[in-house]
Amino acid sequence: MPPPFRDERLSSWLERIADVYLVSLDELQAHIGCVRPALQLEFEPVQADMERIAVATNRSAERLFAMTFRGASPRYRSLLRPSSREICPACSRGMQRPQRLRGWSFAFAFWCDRHREPLFGGEMSGVSALGDEASGRRGAEILLQWAMEREIAAIPVGSVLSLLLLPSRKLSPPAPWELAYLPLPRQHDPSVLSRPCRRPVLSVVVPEFRAAVPTSDPRLSSTIADVPNAPRAERYALAIGVARVLKNPVGTIIRVLEASDEFGRKKVMDLIEGWPAAIRHAVGRAAPCTRQRGNAGRAVTGARLSHQRVRALS
Ligand SMILES: [Zn+2]
Repeated sequence: MPPPFRDERLSSWLERIADVYLVSLDELQAHIGCVRPALQLEFEPVQADMERIAVATNRSAERLFAMTFRGASPRYRSLLRPSSREICPACSRGMQRPQRLRGWSFAFAFWCDRHREPLFGGEMSGVSALGDEASGRRGAEILLQWAMEREIAAIPVGSVLSLLLLPSRKLSPPAPWELAYLPLPRQHDPSVLSRPCRRPVLSVVVPEFRAAVPTSDPRLSSTIADVPNAPRAERYALAIGVARVLKNPVGTIIRVLEASDEFGRKKVMDLIEGWPAAIRHAVGRAAPCTRQRGNAGRAVTGARLSHQRVRALS
């Protein structure tokens, strides 16, 4: 029987044991007498099942509980991807079935801690268009600390994530330059041309995102709860975005406000109401378009927007 790896998930280890006996995971669990499937046991371990596995594998039940997500903070649990199959090629060299570690199921886990190499698996499309590994690593670490409810930033990390997921503009069909990232046949597909697109603030903070995930394609919704279901490129772009916002909150917000329409600007301004006053005041001083009353503010908004339009067309 193969020993479990450090931080290995219970379902991963049981799968590897099942391989040794040439049975499926379900068959192994039925043989042991488990009531709950392994994937569910990881989230809600049942004492009786854990004890049966402990007896069958000659391990302590405590050791097995440590292979589940019991005791993890609710926020961390809400950001897990239970069926993720990411692996580290260096960790699993020569193994027929690579192990899956607990930490790799987190929505913002992109590297193996031990080898510092990228995890592979699932949907990798678009990931290579996103560089900036330094920001990606910093953002992923900030998000991990936040998920474990160890807040380290002055601005609430959850609100930075929400900011990145906000629409920067009203839904509208893709502009010609946005279609340029699509394969040629799809650029002329009438259903693509007419479909209204979401343009999250993320694509302003991380412009590379537009090349990684064409404007007509993102699957990100506007809620944090859906993030674990988003493809790797979208989750990775969020980590980069979190790092960039926290590094320069005022400059980033100003850029976002300039790129947004009235609809998006209102949403952004409402969200940053809860941010430290010093940041809000600096934004207000630098971006007169945030002052919604008065003709001067409107005039500046108009000037900025037409400037933006000219740049977008050129
Ligand atoms: Zn590794």
